[in-house]
Amino acid sequence: MKTVGYAAHNSDAEMVPYHFERRALRANDVAIEILFSGICHSDLHTVNGDWGPQPYPLVPGHEIVGRVIEVGSDVKNYKVGDNVGVGCMVDSCQECDQCHSHEEQYCRVGMTPTYGAPDRIDGTITQGGYSKHIVVREEFVLSIPDTLDMSKAAPILCAGITTFSPLRTWGVKEGSRVGVIGLGGLGHMAVKLAVAMGAEVTVLSRSNKKEADAKELGATGILASTDKDAMKKATASFDLIIDTVPVKHDVTVYAPLLDIDGTLVIVGQVGPMDEFMSVPMIMGRRRVAGSLIGGIKETQEVLDFCGQHNIHPECKIIRPDEVNDAFDVMAKGDISHRYVMDMSSLAVEG
Ligand SMILES: [Zn+2]
Ligand SMILES: [Zn+2]
Repeated sequence: MKTVGYAAHNSDAEMVPYHFERRALRANDVAIEILFSGICHSDLHTVNGDWGPQPYPLVPGHEIVGRVIEVGSDVKNYKVGDNVGVGCMVDSCQECDQCHSHEEQYCRVGMTPTYGAPDRIDGTITQGGYSKHIVVREEFVLSIPDTLDMSKAAPILCAGITTFSPLRTWGVKEGSRVGVIGLGGLGHMAVKLAVAMGAEVTVLSRSNKKEADAKELGATGILASTDKDAMKKATASFDLIIDTVPVKHDVTVYAPLLDIDGTLVIVGQVGPMDEFMSVPMIMGRRRVAGSLIGGIKETQEVLDFCGQHNIHPECKIIRPDEVNDAFDVMAKGDISHRYVMDMSSLAVEG
């Protein structure tokens, strides 16, 4: 199938239109016309080569929503016309203990990321959602509930599941005390989801600048990490802290805010962190943990949860030809919405 997307051809270049082929459908494949594609911070890191060399040309994107246009002969759960999504992975072994327990992101032989990785069957490099079409095996296709606005649903596939999974893993419920560090793409979803689970949510930020934004999302307010008195007063006042900061930073300042047995979960920075101090961990059996997206079953759960609770990511809709500008803005940091591309203006040649 002929398609078109926006690809990076090396780590310094801007993304440009790129015409390429999607594979012919296998029996268990679903072909999707992509309607909206979210822009994730990890797209930026990957394209820039921050996480290692890439198989350019590379079409990024793993927050994908669209409509089914064709299905393989063995596909059971989807039909032409269905509203569907694809997230951060498109395949896994389906046989190991992790795959069997619906944690394909931790597949023992490695899941296949949506872009930049060899396909398990034919070895071709996967290409992501900054494109007009995608072909994905049925097991990695998600159903988008009717109650969700398609134009705003895409970021749930990465930012949503990345924050939903640790909230579920650490048992957030009515009355849980949750802190969220950072109010960007991940952080604002963490706040909305935790609030909908009944938690009491506080945003941790360098200053009170985003207090109004935080309250609008349902948080009780902001705890400014630069306010020494307020930080001291907040000692041992959180059960769980979701740390969405996407750069190297120090968790030692936040650790004392956890109650005994509390956990700080890193979901933003993938790479080195500042040296940390073990004292607050030891003195309060506190934990620092990490978490990677979530399994397919849990991704369907977060989509359904957002559908039930009318939760939509804060989105700014742009055209695909504005993608490089969006990357520039994101590289400077500090945006509290997600850029989502409306793919309707992208046309396949010939
Ligand atoms: Zn992502
Ligand atoms: Zn596996």
